[in-house]
Amino acid sequence: SAELARAESLILEIPDYPSEGILFRDITPLLADGPALRATVDALIAPFAGRFDVVAGLEARGFLLASAAAYTSGTGLMPIRKSGRLPRPAGTVGYALEYGTAEIEAHADFAPGSRVLLIDDVLATGGTLVAAHALMRELGYAVAGTAVLFEIDGLGGRAAIDDPALHTVFHS
Ligand code: 5GP
Repeated sequence: SAELARAESLILEIPDYPSEGILFRDITPLLADGPALRATVDALIAPFAGRFDVVAGLEARGFLLASAAAYTSGTGLMPIRKSGRLPRPAGTVGYALEYGTAEIEAHADFAPGSRVLLIDDVLATGGTLVAAHALMRELGYAVAGTAVLFEIDGLGGRAAIDDPALHTVFHS
């Protein structure tokens, strides 16, 4: 749609951020625009309408999109956090970063078998979302789909995630 094309034009490419050689996609101008934000969130969840019970967002920019998606679908929201930030026992999955390792965590606040729609802002190598899939398995949830605002082509993310229900709104 024309609204989505305009939304795409609001994603900025920032060279050498956060480090030399990285071309960072900055989605904050898209978030700043009401009609663009609404059209993008609608497009993010459209393929999964009626097929999920919970929306899970990846810290931190995934939270922004997942919250809007949960609100408009009338479902609950699951924040998937970086390690050490949840007050109660949680499922934990570790994964490799370019330099070092990281962990993500989520509370077990939903019924076993709940159908979860995973949402993040950008798909690069796929490491973050692969870990999120493993975390859902560990907690006994079913992944209903994976939805990402912007897919960076050529970094192998789509192959790494290996989810036929991977849906991305924009790509490079
Ligand atoms: P991956 O794990 O797929 O390599 O990286 C994806 C994660 O890093 C996402 O959580 C995303 O927020 C962040 N990320 C990586 N590259 C970019 C980028 O260019 N722009 C934004 N906004 N986030 C990025």
